[in-house]
Amino acid sequence: MDTAEIRRRFLAHFEAAGHAVVPSASTLADDPNLLFVNAGMVPFKPYFLGQETPPFDRATSVQKCIRTPDIEDVGKTTRHATFFEMCGNFSFGDYFKQGAIELAWALITNPVEEGGYGLDKDRLYPSVLVGDEEAIGLWMEVTGLPRERIVQLGPKENYWSMGVPGPGGPCSEILFDRGPEFGPDFDAATLGPDMPFELEDRLLEIWNLVFMQDDLSAVRSKSDFDIAGSLPKKNIDTGMGLDRVALLLQGKKNMYEIDLVYPVIAKAEQLTGRTYGVDREDDIRFCVVADHVRSSMMLIGDGVTPGNDGRGYVLRRLLRRAVRSMRLLGCEDRVLPELMPVSRDAMSPTYGNLVTDWERICQVAFAEEDAFRKTLQSGTQIFDTAAADVKRTGGTTLSGERAFALHDTYGFPIDLTLEMAAEQGLQVDEQGFRGLMAEQRERAKADARAKKGTHGDTAAYRGILDEFGPTEWLAYETLETESRPLALLSGGASVPRLAQGEIGELVLDRTPFYAESGGQVADAGEILFDGGRLEVIDVQRPIKGLVVHQVRVVDGELVSTGSNGGKGAVHARVDPEWRIGARQAHSGTHVVHAALREVLGPTALQSGSYNRPGYLRLDFGWTQALSSEQVRDIELVSQQALRADLAVSWDYMTLEQAKEWGAIALFGETYDNTKVRVVEIGGPWSRELCGGTHVDHSSQIGTVVVTGETSVGSGNRRIEALTGVEGFGYLARERDVVAQLTGLLKTQPDDLVGRVQGLTERLRAAEKELEKARLAQLLGASAELAAGASQVGPVKVVAHRADGAAGGDVRNLAMDVRGRLPQGEPGVVVIIGNVDGKVSVVAATNDEARARGVSAGELVRAVGPLLGGKGGGKDDVAQGGGTDASRIDEALALVAHEVAKHAVQG
Ligand code: ATP
Ligand code: MG
Repeated sequence: MDTAEIRRRFLAHFEAAGHAVVPSASTLADDPNLLFVNAGMVPFKPYFLGQETPPFDRATSVQKCIRTPDIEDVGKTTRHATFFEMCGNFSFGDYFKQGAIELAWALITNPVEEGGYGLDKDRLYPSVLVGDEEAIGLWMEVTGLPRERIVQLGPKENYWSMGVPGPGGPCSEILFDRGPEFGPDFDAATLGPDMPFELEDRLLEIWNLVFMQDDLSAVRSKSDFDIAGSLPKKNIDTGMGLDRVALLLQGKKNMYEIDLVYPVIAKAEQLTGRTYGVDREDDIRFCVVADHVRSSMMLIGDGVTPGNDGRGYVLRRLLRRAVRSMRLLGCEDRVLPELMPVSRDAMSPTYGNLVTDWERICQVAFAEEDAFRKTLQSGTQIFDTAAADVKRTGGTTLSGERAFALHDTYGFPIDLTLEMAAEQGLQVDEQGFRGLMAEQRERAKADARAKKGTHGDTAAYRGILDEFGPTEWLAYETLETESRPLALLSGGASVPRLAQGEIGELVLDRTPFYAESGGQVADAGEILFDGGRLEVIDVQRPIKGLVVHQVRVVDGELVSTGSNGGKGAVHARVDPEWRIGARQAHSGTHVVHAALREVLGPTALQSGSYNRPGYLRLDFGWTQALSSEQVRDIELVSQQALRADLAVSWDYMTLEQAKEWGAIALFGETYDNTKVRVVEIGGPWSRELCGGTHVDHSSQIGTVVVTGETSVGSGNRRIEALTGVEGFGYLARERDVVAQLTGLLKTQPDDLVGRVQGLTERLRAAEKELEKARLAQLLGASAELAAGASQVGPVKVVAHRADGAAGGDVRNLAMDVRGRLPQGEPGVVVIIGNVDGKVSVVAATNDEARARGVSAGELVRAVGPLLGGKGGGKDDVAQGGGTDASRIDEALALVAHEVAKHAVQG
């Protein structure tokens, strides 16, 4: 049965049982604690946590998942992919254990002709949490299996929680015995509480049913937690691995051989000339290639670009591992342009964006491969140097530090280092390397922990929301309103008052203030109360539905509503100047984005943005720097859009409708079935999902002045621009500079560049002349110096002080004088230059002097200490410097002495 059919049957089965079919969310989790969606339940989290009311009691989905912890298992086990699809059914306070077991069992055991998967009942084993008698009883009742067929596993396997206080509950897995080829025999009745490692590939877990029933007050580890009570509404969350079921139903040995993945292996065989299924190491590489090509393609499809941390790093690692594995299989050519289209053809019937976004996906992936190929090239050089060093010193082991530096600085993977070292007959201190890696991981973890801490505790906000309901939000309608204060907080706790000068957080029943989101900063403004005034510093929405103002008391004392009975109304007022600036900047961002896509093509897609009154920046996926013409064109198209005075409008619609409309939305798609807001500028010219505040007509943006285009990490560019008054201000300042220059140069603006060019050329020519003259003067002395050489034993010695000459000049002079000393006689020149106490010394010897044992290097070393510095060099020419000019003459005198000491008579 092909995977598409397994997917179809899953959804059909649950739809027939009253479940709402929900499309897959993006793989990018809309959750500060998760990089990627790693299970089908993630998009439903707010419902399970009771933060939002689900619009349905039952739902089913096939969710795209990414599991980075499984990356090292790919190809080594038969069942772990980094990208896979999880089929799930969910009950929100509706059916519980019995319903979940019945529904799952029916689907997997119903005959194929009746819409099921037709798995052999005799090879299926349910597992439950040790002692979950309720589940054991239900399994026996529903399936007719005897108690001995039910495996009891400990909480590590079969208790689910989110690792934090909140919902939790026992799990029940469905395992399929794949037979003795995949592991030792076993006795289900005595298995557990741990699942033996060597059985995991044989007794394949295909489905996990989570019975969410407990309210946890503390979670210390997977098996150590406190149950405070039961949940008022019990939920079901299940996950069936689509790829794992496909492997069973397609009679394959592992997940990489299923219809959606194998074609990439076949292509890799063709490119490498090696055959899959012959050598275990090679097979692992084939699987890594097939798996990683698919995961990285899916990630890029969802908007990730390669980078050095977070999601970007995961993508980079996947792409690089795929490329490297192909190399180890013997293919050194560019591989992604060959492999990725194969994976696209397998996946695009389900994920149509792979076709519509294909050009962009290729650009990102191929650029990363090219960059990695360069890394490999330079890394190989560094490796060769390191290996040569080890050999020269008679060693046999490359140090852990070296291996780590290769990895950390050059992105050179350790197994490549190992392999290349082996080729040269060297070993690698792997333990040292792993130690350094572990340290680095610790640092990264500490970092992540520190970051997590800033998300803070939302309990206080949740309490306010529960008590008063959501904030009435008027940012689209008005700039000022009367409203009632509901809560006053400081440091996350409720406080009775804020004195003048103090800062705290104020929640109102209604507010006209825009809370920071979608790249737009929070509004500025003030809140007036009886007897005082607050300045609004920041406005955030820490949890859905609640707007919180960070305020400073400018005048008076703010007393909490608790103590004055909640009567004191306040007047909240957004600074109108600020708001018009913010609207201009945000609409300007949409205009620049649309212009960007018009000039560069639809593959240029925004990856982030920020705007505040007067300023905007937009990051977008693009692999090369823009030319100055492209930047000018983007500005021109933007200006034309302003002049055309396009109408700006917005509308609410379902996400589906928005997509049909071609509205741009990549991030944070959750399947809330509330409507999304689509902002249009000039109809279809610009359509984006956006909750920001906008101008009514594009001409109100005033102007868009592009001020810069820069790189922000690999594969991403940033364009910056000024809008409204700030844009004009910028132009006015430039005009001022031009006016000053034309005044100074007594010329017209149009002639300015020519004039400055002419001036700099003349200046350069004059400097050259000057330099020539100076050198001539300096060298002019050299004939005289050579003639005046003194005789020290057999050696002609020139020791000369050149005040005003610096390093290069001193050297030139020394070389020139040496050349003028009598041929065939030993000769030595030492020149000491001095520019404002910066002393440079150069010594030069000729062949005959060296034959007599006089060395330039030794001379410089001998005089160095007198000059307050050091230096040295070869026997023929040596150079040094110092900071003490007071003993130059003494140093010169020392030269004759040193020559006399060393020169061998002959
Ligand atoms: P395992 O112990 O085999 O790694 P798991 O306990 O991590 O599995 P769950 O978190 O319970 O699995 O996920 C639910 C289902 O998703 C599993 O029963 C399995 O079918 C599937 N699944 C989990 N991880 C992967 C993976 N890396 N690749 C493919 N399918 C997976
Ligand atoms: Mg797992």
